[in-house]
Amino acid sequence: MVAAKGSGTKKKKTKKRSPRKAGTSQWTERVQRGTRILQVPALVKLPWLVHGFSTRVGGVSKLDGKRVLNLGFTEWDARDNVKENRRRLQAAVGAQDFKLVSLLQFHSDAIAHFEGAPTEPSRADASVTKIPGLLLAVQTADCVPVLLVDPKNRAVAAVHAGWRGTLARIVEKAIGRMQMQFGSHAVDLLAAIGPAIGGCCYEVGTEVAAAFSGQFANAAEFFDELRTGDEPNPLQWLNMMPPGHQPPPKKVLLDLRKANHSQLEAAGVTAANIFISDLCTGCRRDLLFSYRKEGAETGRMMAVIGIRASDKKPASRPKA
Ligand SMILES: [Zn+2]
Repeated sequence: MVAAKGSGTKKKKTKKRSPRKAGTSQWTERVQRGTRILQVPALVKLPWLVHGFSTRVGGVSKLDGKRVLNLGFTEWDARDNVKENRRRLQAAVGAQDFKLVSLLQFHSDAIAHFEGAPTEPSRADASVTKIPGLLLAVQTADCVPVLLVDPKNRAVAAVHAGWRGTLARIVEKAIGRMQMQFGSHAVDLLAAIGPAIGGCCYEVGTEVAAAFSGQFANAAEFFDELRTGDEPNPLQWLNMMPPGHQPPPKKVLLDLRKANHSQLEAAGVTAANIFISDLCTGCRRDLLFSYRKEGAETGRMMAVIGIRASDKKPASRPKA
């Protein structure tokens, strides 16, 4: 379980069916016409910003006899369903009029800078913009979605970080890109790390641990046990097992959100400005999609962020 870093607030004992009960106490839930969205209050507060992390709840797609909000063009789902789901997501985050800008993701460190609505989808795993009306989107079903906001320069980024992207430091590079394009400073940025597969469920081979330990000095913090596959195996000698009869090398558990959190901090983002969801896609299949646990027959969630053309008016108080 990843602790709520940033505010240090402890999970309060909330009343049943509290709308705030979306894992970490810093996150809130928003339900609009059955579509359930997760949001970070610090981002909701900005009147020029829209954002949200989708869940599987709501939507018109059917999976295992249940309605789900599948936002990716998967083989098992009809295109029209996905389009309708995307419309519902946009409505739920208040971005009906935005142009949705999704990417052709390929687990890279490629970052697309949008200066206008693209005509063709870009091959990239992160996007940055300061153009109002564009709704940047990344799709996930276990991988880590990260949204970045620069309140000073009014610029935003959406990042998709699986283990390959994390290893390639895509979050750090997205911050670098914001610096270059918009003059952003990491110390001003707000970052939201969305639901993803947790250190409880994400088994990887020791070769992944080896790759991480070659790239990050603090790699040991991201794994339950940092084994790279090169350790001598004393059991082999004790058991006197003939070659080829050793048990297969054990897997290790990787906490991708922790790795990305660490990258954000290393890049200069203040801990108090990092909001991390503690929801695990593997553990919470009632609420989220998990490719690892469900295989190809699962949906895709989306994390979206965009800049309004004009600031949202503060909600008027109801008259007494
Ligand atoms: Zn889990």
